[in-house]
Amino acid sequence: MREVKKSKLVDEVLVVDACSRDRTAEVALRAGARVVKQDKHLPSGKGTTMQVGIENARGDVLVFFDADINNFKTEFVDRMVSPILKGEADFVKGSFTRTAGRVTEMVAKPLITVFFPEVKMKQPLSGQIAGRRELFERIRLERDWGVDVGILLDLPTGVRIREVDLGYISHRMKREGELSDMSQEVAGTIMTRSVGQGRLFFGGMGNLFGRLKSWLSITPPETKKSRVVIFDMDGVLLKGRVIDALAREYGFAKELRKARERCAGGEISERELSEFLARFLKGLRVDDIEKTVSKLSLNKGVKETVKKLKQRGFKIAILSDSYQIACNVTGKRIKADYSIGNILEVKNGRLTGVIIKNQPNCSECDFSLCKKVGVERIARKFGVSPRECIIVGDGENDAHAMDVAGLGVAFNAASKVKEKARILIDKDMRDLLEYLS
Ligand SMILES: [Zn+2]
Repeated sequence: MREVKKSKLVDEVLVVDACSRDRTAEVALRAGARVVKQDKHLPSGKGTTMQVGIENARGDVLVFFDADINNFKTEFVDRMVSPILKGEADFVKGSFTRTAGRVTEMVAKPLITVFFPEVKMKQPLSGQIAGRRELFERIRLERDWGVDVGILLDLPTGVRIREVDLGYISHRMKREGELSDMSQEVAGTIMTRSVGQGRLFFGGMGNLFGRLKSWLSITPPETKKSRVVIFDMDGVLLKGRVIDALAREYGFAKELRKARERCAGGEISERELSEFLARFLKGLRVDDIEKTVSKLSLNKGVKETVKKLKQRGFKIAILSDSYQIACNVTGKRIKADYSIGNILEVKNGRLTGVIIKNQPNCSECDFSLCKKVGVERIARKFGVSPRECIIVGDGENDAHAMDVAGLGVAFNAASKVKEKARILIDKDMRDLLEYLS
């Protein structure tokens, strides 16, 4: 505690007292920490206590240190925080030289190598972590020892991770009983993420998971809930784009082309483009739009894919920056469970040419409907976390949503979207079935 307080970067030292019986609170208070007592009704576990810490900490950047480090040095704080303050990383994990962590070497690393080969870390289980508060608020923490590896695997795509070397740390060695609990909880967390993020591709692997589950006697809560596959509509479910079909039908194709050029040139935003185009629909009836949309053909394999996904227990949603009316038509055709699109104002049975402003939006983007917030809304609707959603799309707005979704699938997409997605599909939607078991 004394060493932490010496750092100029530290505004507050927070100690969470999870019903300790060794006078932790008293000693910490005396050393100058702010002490928060964890409610005794909360489930016990490292993750619960970290969650209490996140909720009570006042700083913008949060750093976690294990409390049982014997030779703590002030510079540990600086090394953990400076990559974040310099804008070089969004999430920092501190590794250290020590006697080999048995759970790390025998459980965590082998499983991570198989299912998350891109995560290359010396110490994936290290409890020394730092990041901005917003980042931690976006992640659902495991209650138990799975928390540290869970955070690592749940980090949204695009988060820059850095592992920094803290040198030698002397730690209290864990007892055998503790090791066994820890192994189970760490393995359980990695396996649920493997399933949740679509890393377990084959039926046979599902069996392996079943065996592992009984072997480890864990029942991961996520596997009971159904996951949600969220499809973009234009170009993904549908072969064409709704607005192109409407422009052809109602004679504003030239204006559409010009407005798109202005948007591509940065003259107007996506939102302004969308508002501008809606004006051409003024005076049309809802069923005029419905008729035009129903004439558009679905992309190859869409119907079969959706049907099979539903049989496998997935929920299906449409998230589109086109119109809700069009989503309804397409949703009916493929039997989707839910859809979100831009809502056109209707008065006396006719469109007014105005988009009603209650669509999802965020401060980071200027889409008429922010799909990142859209994914969060859909997740809430189905009672799952955004990490349990899979987004399939082809545009930048879909890529934006891949920051919060558990898995991003690029369908027939531009290279920017492909970079963010983990799965690439080119023409036939049925390829998706290979990945989602
Ligand atoms: Zn946004």
